[in-house]
Amino acid sequence: MKISVVAPLYDEEGSLKELHRELSEVLQGREYEIIFVNDGSRDHSLEILREIAADDSHAGIISFRRNRGKSAAMASGFREAKGDILITIDADLQDDPHEIPNLIKKIEEGFDLVSGWKRKRRDPISKTIPSRLFNWVTAKLTGIPLHDFNCGLKAYKREVVENLDVYGEMHRYLPVLAKYAGFKIGEVSVHHRPRLHGRTKFGVSRFLHGFLDLLTVLFITRYTLRPLHLFGSFGIVTLFLGIAICAYLSVIWFMGTPIGSRPLFFLGILLILLGVQFFSIGLLGEMITRSSIKETPASEYLPPKQKL
Ligand code: UDP
Ligand code: MG
Repeated sequence: MKISVVAPLYDEEGSLKELHRELSEVLQGREYEIIFVNDGSRDHSLEILREIAADDSHAGIISFRRNRGKSAAMASGFREAKGDILITIDADLQDDPHEIPNLIKKIEEGFDLVSGWKRKRRDPISKTIPSRLFNWVTAKLTGIPLHDFNCGLKAYKREVVENLDVYGEMHRYLPVLAKYAGFKIGEVSVHHRPRLHGRTKFGVSRFLHGFLDLLTVLFITRYTLRPLHLFGSFGIVTLFLGIAICAYLSVIWFMGTPIGSRPLFFLGILLILLGVQFFSIGLLGEMITRSSIKETPASEYLPPKQKL
């Protein structure tokens, strides 16, 4: 079984040599490769990587001219990786390479994707508390019982990454996408270390973006092929309420009471308009789905094939 380690990195010059040393130590005796994906670093990361790769035939480099984000870095690494099992690891030394054998063991037990769980997280509290909330909400909404969706340390069977589209900032939700594709997801608690060199690349924007991406993931895993079910449901409820309100007011009006200045009247109109809009969006969604399905190969929207 060949192991491919994919390490996305952006300005991590202080950590790379040690990361490479620890990875080599842990993987010694196995067939492996380490793919460093330089995500447009502005420091000396690339020079250091070149030095590392010059001395070690296991190490390879992919380098972006500018910063494209962790997801893009991971996707490129996945495309180049030749291994049967792929491991992702943050390049900042916060993830401990010594956990890799545990992840591999769990994959060998039959799981398709194994996610690390930073049970004792060594990060500032401004990060750990929101991230708990985020993980709890994600677990509840997706029904996947993971504690730590966004752990950098994960192991994948090759088949899993071949079936996933990683773009935008979707790296946070790979377990959700994989589960939706029918893969078996496992979790292993891993040792986490404080950041010693450089600084974090995700500011507070991570929470807003993370939340929006959660909406995207929930939508694409449930409703992309049937948008009217989502929008139509909202539409029916609002339209029905609006019509009921306006019908009630009409009766009153016929009985001689003026209704023009009642707030309820405006609410009724608002709900009817909103209902019609929800419906229209749903129908447009259906039309887009229909035409895009005609143009895309079946493999894009049918469930992924399983290798038997
Ligand atoms: N990273 C990257 N591109 C980016 C942002 C981050 O390749 O645009 C890498 C980063 O160098 C690190 C990993 O992704 O190896 C995790 O980032 P970071 O440690 O900043 O995240 P945190 O641990 O704070 O969640
Ligand atoms: Mg980190």
